[in-house]
Amino acid sequence: MSTSFSEDLLRWYDKNAAARALPWRGERDPYRIWLSEIMLQQTQAQTVKGYYARFLSAFPTVFALAEADEQAVLKLWEGLGYYSRARNLHAAARRVAGDMGGAFPGDAAGLRRLPGVGPYAASAIASIAFGEPAPALDGNQARVLGRVLAWEDVLKTPFDLLAPALERIDRERPGDYNQALMDLGASICTPKSPRCGDCPVAEHCRAREEDAVLEYPKKSPPAPKKEQDLTILLLYQNGRLLVRRRPKGLLGGLYEFVCVEGHPDEPALADALTAMGFTGVQIERPLPDAKHVFTHRVWHMQGRLGSCATSPEGYSAVDQDQLQALPFPSALRVYREIALSEKQ
Ligand code: SF4
Repeated sequence: MSTSFSEDLLRWYDKNAAARALPWRGERDPYRIWLSEIMLQQTQAQTVKGYYARFLSAFPTVFALAEADEQAVLKLWEGLGYYSRARNLHAAARRVAGDMGGAFPGDAAGLRRLPGVGPYAASAIASIAFGEPAPALDGNQARVLGRVLAWEDVLKTPFDLLAPALERIDRERPGDYNQALMDLGASICTPKSPRCGDCPVAEHCRAREEDAVLEYPKKSPPAPKKEQDLTILLLYQNGRLLVRRRPKGLLGGLYEFVCVEGHPDEPALADALTAMGFTGVQIERPLPDAKHVFTHRVWHMQGRLGSCATSPEGYSAVDQDQLQALPFPSALRVYREIALSEKQ
């Protein structure tokens, strides 16, 4: 008798799950599952491991996280990127601890109402923590299913495959099924070099049958990234470095140095800083260039070191210890390291 897609997938998962021993595997506590799923969005499992352990040691329960100061949460998140995740995590913890008595919503629809929980995370958490047969469609699952089905349409989102995914998900073990599909996508059915010879669902795969594996899933061409030129200034006022908390939006809540749009020459840079409200600006020397690539934009940064007499509202002058303690985005790491190596 032939076996089904989910039977073959789960048999493989049962044999191989140990090979990808991850601290959140086998977990049944919704708080821990939620935390791992939010961290795993856009970040590799190997990177997440350390952050997950540090977070749980600092905030062992949803109540502990809810009571934490936002800066402490952002500081622990430093380096993981996509900081809106950390702010949403904190907001969701406050809602669960405050309005729900510490109990997470018990299905995907309820979980989706929490800040930062999208359709993928809601399905993943609901299937793993509560056994709901909700397909957790992320890029990995969509790639495997797109190939298995030889899906001809361009996927606008992985959830375009919801109907066939619902047909295939294992109703007895939906959490394991979702994790198995993620593992298969991460380890065997990889984007560029899938190992079809080792694949447990090869018999069910139409793309393989058609010898057209790399043609699926069909994709529209990526939108070009927005290129942005910035000048980053390590600007000192009375020997202390000026920093500012970024407003809401990209990297909101994290700290930054004085920053000017574009790569102006020295007189134009001094004019721009005067227009921003700085007085007595003196540019002393250039600093190395740096580049940071985000998902949708690229920063091309030039650095300058200088001083000023007074600064506009919103900036704080900090010493080395304060600088070390404040959360900064990875994009500014080069300049923070230079600042930390400067004598004050
Ligand atoms: S047979 Fe190949 S393309 Fe098909 S699911 Fe398996 S690894 Fe992916």
